[in-house]
Amino acid sequence: MPDRGETFAPPESEPLAAAPVASNWRRSLARAIRDPDVLVGQLCLGDEHRQPARRAAELFPLLVPESYLKRMRPGDPRDPLLRQVLPLGDELQAPPGFSDDPVGDSAARRAPGLIHKYSGRALLIATGSCAVHCRYCFRREYPYGEEPRRMDDWRPALTEIASDATLHEIILSGGDPLMLTDERLGALIGEIARIPHVRRLRIHTRLPIVLPDRLTPELISLLRDSGLTPVVVVHANHPHEIAGDCAAALRSLVRCGVTTLNQTVLLRGVNDRADPLAELCERLIDVGVIPYYLHQLDRVRGAAHFEVPEATGLKLIEALRRRLPGYAVPKYVRETAGEAAKTPLL
Ligand SMILES: *Cc1c(COP(=O)(O)O)cnc(C)c1O
Ligand code: SF4
Repeated sequence: MPDRGETFAPPESEPLAAAPVASNWRRSLARAIRDPDVLVGQLCLGDEHRQPARRAAELFPLLVPESYLKRMRPGDPRDPLLRQVLPLGDELQAPPGFSDDPVGDSAARRAPGLIHKYSGRALLIATGSCAVHCRYCFRREYPYGEEPRRMDDWRPALTEIASDATLHEIILSGGDPLMLTDERLGALIGEIARIPHVRRLRIHTRLPIVLPDRLTPELISLLRDSGLTPVVVVHANHPHEIAGDCAAALRSLVRCGVTTLNQTVLLRGVNDRADPLAELCERLIDVGVIPYYLHQLDRVRGAAHFEVPEATGLKLIEALRRRLPGYAVPKYVRETAGEAAKTPLL
């Protein structure tokens, strides 16, 4: 069971009144839906969804921001956005081959919060918190409680990065690194930027998709002005996600000159057909975001019902190749514990 204690409150207590505009996202976060009965009620779903949702949410709590909820169709239990967040009885099954650490994170941990698997780049678990709980999350069982929380806790990881001159890129991941306040994020980025051999800062985040008001002008300046070249990798899985506030937020990030990529997880019942995948890629390109990876599902316990066979994934990629410009087709990959890079599926 991961320690998700931080998830239930905004990350720090700073009076909201002090900075009303910049704090809108934290108010949105505080209002996010955490009760399965509220979700079922607001979307007018049948009562039969309540009991399984309550039980599965005991293992991994429900969390959905209102902005994301607004992009779902009421009354449709098969809505592709709802399926990503609705706890199901299926999660309680544990078929063989599905584990707590499917990608070998623990073997690659170099210091508290630092995972170094691939040449030239290392990943920092900036926080265990997220603004949404994706039921298929490969880190749903990650022991976040053992990772750094305060600036001092980061010293061993920063020392390790400073001592390895091959590291040119630091990736902030989590959880979701944009759950940190600008103040904390700025402090962490500032420390990273002081290490001479680090040139690029990559942020892997789902907040622009599920809580678009997180992309404030202050945050964008912070990313742009750190002295490191910023790359943001967002995480959208379905074309309905790239709408309204979210599309505007992505456009603003791209307009400010931040290279923005997207990764998608191939998910049964969400995006395992050519039409939604092609539409997602087109909508991303239309707002200036480049489709980067289509990920085969990591085999984490509780997510088996989302798995799509690789043969299907290969056919989908082939369909995308026939329909889209080359730059709009993501690379189909799988992460294999112990490998030197993501494994391309061809
Ligand atoms: C996925 C991943 C990366 C980034 O890999 P890219 O192929 O460069 O996107 C880096 N570190 C870890 C631990 C990863 O899981
Ligand atoms: S936002 Fe990312 S880390 Fe958080 S639950 Fe979703 S997939 Fe997992």
